[in-house]
Amino acid sequence: MKELKDRIRRDGIIRAGNVLKVDSFLNHQMDIQLFEAMGQEFRRRFSDVEINKILTIEASGIGIACVVAQSFRVPVVFAKKTQTKNISGEVYTTKVESYTHGRIYDVIVSKEFLGKGDKVLLIDDFLANGKALEGLARLVKDSGAELVGAGIVIEKGFQIGGQTLRAQGIRVESLAIVDSMDETTGEIVFCE
Ligand code: 5GP
Repeated sequence: MKELKDRIRRDGIIRAGNVLKVDSFLNHQMDIQLFEAMGQEFRRRFSDVEINKILTIEASGIGIACVVAQSFRVPVVFAKKTQTKNISGEVYTTKVESYTHGRIYDVIVSKEFLGKGDKVLLIDDFLANGKALEGLARLVKDSGAELVGAGIVIEKGFQIGGQTLRAQGIRVESLAIVDSMDETTGEIVFCE
């Protein structure tokens, strides 16, 4: 998606540890006009499949997931990160290692909001090593719902997540795939 790539090139800041900061339009301030265009693009890419629910993970996936859900006219469920020790039987739960914080979280979704008959599209802002998406995919599987695919705003193609998930047969559509980024020169190269 050209508009997104241009924006990343213009406003993206490369930080140590292969972290791309896009706080001015995605992760802190959110450019809703750009989000709308991204929502339409996901709608176009997944127009061949039935989707009745969007699933994301708090916090940074929620904004974009809401706008994508609007273009599909379906609800959004966000998986919650929790440190509660006694997790009740009313939730599906899994563990996810956070890329940016290096911590392991328990992640939960209420059984009320995900289950058999749901056709789920996962949405997240970034794909790096794939831990967040793998966790969401496990929750979908545990619930008996069907995983239709995953829509990602920025995939870092030089990290293993995309390859791992596609090898598991998950359809991953990324709006921008970063092939390489150089912290010293600030250069960002995209795939294709
Ligand atoms: P993964 O689980 O694929 O390793 O990492 C994905 C999650 O980590 C995303 O939900 C995102 O919040 C965060 N993340 C990973 N890499 C980056 C990055 O380069 N920049 C930002 N802003 N977040 C990232």
